[in-house]
Amino acid sequence: SASESCTRLTEAHSKSLLNNHDTFLFDCDGVLWNFPEIFPGAVELLNYLTEHGKQLFFVTNNSTKTQDDYAKRFNDIGYKAKPEQIICTAWLTAQHLKSIDFKGRCYVLGMHSMAHELEREGFEICGGIGPDPLASDATAIKTDKLNLDPNVNCVISALDLHVSYIKILKAATYLNRPNVLFLATNDDASLPQSDEVIMPGAGTILASVATAACRSPTILGKPHAPMFDAIRSVFPNVDPKRTVMIGDRVETDIAFGNRQGTTTLLVFSGATSEKYLDSLKQGDERDLLPSFCVKDVQQFLNFLKS
Ligand code: PLP
Ligand code: CA
Repeated sequence: SASESCTRLTEAHSKSLLNNHDTFLFDCDGVLWNFPEIFPGAVELLNYLTEHGKQLFFVTNNSTKTQDDYAKRFNDIGYKAKPEQIICTAWLTAQHLKSIDFKGRCYVLGMHSMAHELEREGFEICGGIGPDPLASDATAIKTDKLNLDPNVNCVISALDLHVSYIKILKAATYLNRPNVLFLATNDDASLPQSDEVIMPGAGTILASVATAACRSPTILGKPHAPMFDAIRSVFPNVDPKRTVMIGDRVETDIAFGNRQGTTTLLVFSGATSEKYLDSLKQGDERDLLPSFCVKDVQQFLNFLKS
């Protein structure tokens, strides 16, 4: 409840988090690392929780990597992760299509990771991955040269570094057909990587497609429910009341955990400053306020071990 929110984490709270929960959901960027920098205590915390019998999942909106890519990264830094522990949005998209028993062909604005996860589940992709050959001369686009596929019945919008006018045109044109499914991996405005430049996120591309098509997508990633539904479909034993969601962004991670009924823990090592959190406490968006907050994963680990 509101009166219990934003509590500064103490040693006692940390121990009760450990004793009263059996699943820990970790956001990655801003919590465990600011890649390639791995935050102090991160790997030790993951191993500590695992040794104490906890079930760990890594919940990321990043659609540009596969489960296997992430599992390799975790193994490289010293935490033995199985691919099933990685809840990334490329995998999530395939899982979602499976759950609705989707049959057909997808046009995907996204990177190769999307093709990898979708094709692994047997879904057929018809364009959208990589640069569109017509993009080099968009001023000469002729309707009869577009090669639109008559069987596309799903458009998926992800982070696409090769986005172009022609690809938005194709996505919107497919979406204009009756009964074409419209999915988006996530709607993040920007990427967390840099302070110096704004790196447009998947939400930027999604907004252009949705605007042209005059349609709203089903958004799969945090803070939206399909992310949690997918975890539960693979691991039905996950109980929100015995789950902690740890993240650095209130609008995605904390809202996600709160809406699903988990305990939420905000770290200040990423996107959210203490000042910003204080300003939110004055507002009325209770969804955004974490149950607990702590400096970083190192401090959480120190409390657990003390
Ligand atoms: N999307 C992309 C392409 C990213 O690179 C990242 C972070 O690196 C994100 C989204 C946000 O990821 P997360 O949910 O792990 O903070
Ligand atoms: Ca993050």
